[in-house]
Amino acid sequence: MTTPARSDPDVLVIGAGVVGLCCAWFLRRAGRSVTVVDRGEVGDPAACSAGNTGFVGTQGAAPLAEPGVPATGVRWLFSPESPFSVRPRLDGALLAWLWHFRRHCTERHAHAGFETLLALKQRSLALLREMCAEDELAGMLTERGMILACHTEQGYAKARRTIPAATARGVPLRDLDRTELARLEPGVDFAVAGALLNEEGAALRIPAFLVGLGRALRARGVDVVTGAEVRGFEVAGRRVRAVRTARGDLRPAEVVVAAGVWSAACAGMLDVGLTLQPAKGYTVTVPAGPGTPTRPVLLSEGKVAVMPLGDRVRVGGTLELSGMDASVSPRRVDGILHTARRYLPGLDTGRRLDVWSGLRPCTPDSLPLIGRVGGYDNVSVATGHGHIGMGLAPAGGELLAQLVTGVEPGLPLETFALDRFRKGTS
Ligand SMILES: Cc1cc2nc3c(=O)[nH]c(=O)nc-3n(C[C@H](O)[C@H](O)[C@H](O)COP(=O)(O)OP(=O)(O)OC[C@H]3O[C@@H](n4cnc5c(N)ncnc54)[C@H](O)[C@@H]3O)c2cc1C
Repeated sequence: MTTPARSDPDVLVIGAGVVGLCCAWFLRRAGRSVTVVDRGEVGDPAACSAGNTGFVGTQGAAPLAEPGVPATGVRWLFSPESPFSVRPRLDGALLAWLWHFRRHCTERHAHAGFETLLALKQRSLALLREMCAEDELAGMLTERGMILACHTEQGYAKARRTIPAATARGVPLRDLDRTELARLEPGVDFAVAGALLNEEGAALRIPAFLVGLGRALRARGVDVVTGAEVRGFEVAGRRVRAVRTARGDLRPAEVVVAAGVWSAACAGMLDVGLTLQPAKGYTVTVPAGPGTPTRPVLLSEGKVAVMPLGDRVRVGGTLELSGMDASVSPRRVDGILHTARRYLPGLDTGRRLDVWSGLRPCTPDSLPLIGRVGGYDNVSVATGHGHIGMGLAPAGGELLAQLVTGVEPGLPLETFALDRFRKGTS
């Protein structure tokens, strides 16, 4: 039976994580009436956007698939401190994903991926500066640079080799000598072989940014409906006529699926497959102390992120292809903190104020899926922002809005096409 509809919008966005909210922001800015539905609250801990480390800016634009990864991956599988792991299981979708991932572990793909991700991150940073100039988002973005700390000489040499490619594309990444490191972070004991500084390293306050964005959207007339799980679609020919939610049916002109890792299930209700895997990660929040850095630090070889949050520090890491399982592995959490102490021996990790896990929506080439769904005239998808979704979502939202409103896109949309793995164009 159909429940009476709220007022039907031009566009219905499914998912109020950072991706859905950014899509809504740019669709609204383009003059569309927009409703966002989510099964939880804005900033709900179940969403991947709610507990992450909030690194944004131009650092970290490398795709996960790199030339050395398959060889290192075998060793990583057996270590609780490894940054990347796969829970072995017979799952056709996972095997296909891994096959595409392996295919992307080449210099050519890594270089092309870096170029695209960097363009998205640069555009996102510019957009975040605009967004965070609005009252509701004031103070959510801080730009104090980001330190890339390298524990080993080998890691330091590898990091330094990335400087020419980054600076050639306008990223202010440079070597940091010990004196300057001590001047930037006085009193912090860095057990490192060396460090780099990206002056465009920036940070978002998480989950406050999300909650503020939800408030800002409402203030601009977007209907953000929580507790409204999408349970099905009514389809007529090539169009979705109605979206069935726990809080009633809606009949929008356009539907955008931006439901993070759950986008695969949503698209599945329309018989559409997405090349997407959940990649679990954890953040642990501990008290800040004298040994705590005051700006974001990325622990290079360990791929662990350290984000100061006033009187606390959030430490995040691991990427575990574990299926739709967000349970916390104490072994992995210990591994993250152990890695953090190797670089920052003064970090007080004895008292854990919060432990959070989230599922990143990952594609094999680390590029988002942004595009129209084949077979439908009014359905699009925006997901797959992976390990750097906070830093990609604004530019991704702008692209999605350009696609839906028929405006010339800022980047070629073929790069993000949903069927690129099936067609072999990626
Ligand atoms: C440990 C960790 C650290 C990270 N650190 C960083 C970082 O420092 N910088 C960075 O850029 N990125 C980081 N990320 C990645 C980033 O968090 C993600 O890329 C991003 O949050 C994905 O956002 P999303 O909106 O696609 O998904 P989500 O935030 O998961 O949002 C999806 C939403 O869809 C809703 N939904 C699902 N199904 C339905 C349904 N049927 N009906 C209605 N609603 C539905 C969910 O409730 C949810 O709110 C990190 C991730 C992890 C796990």
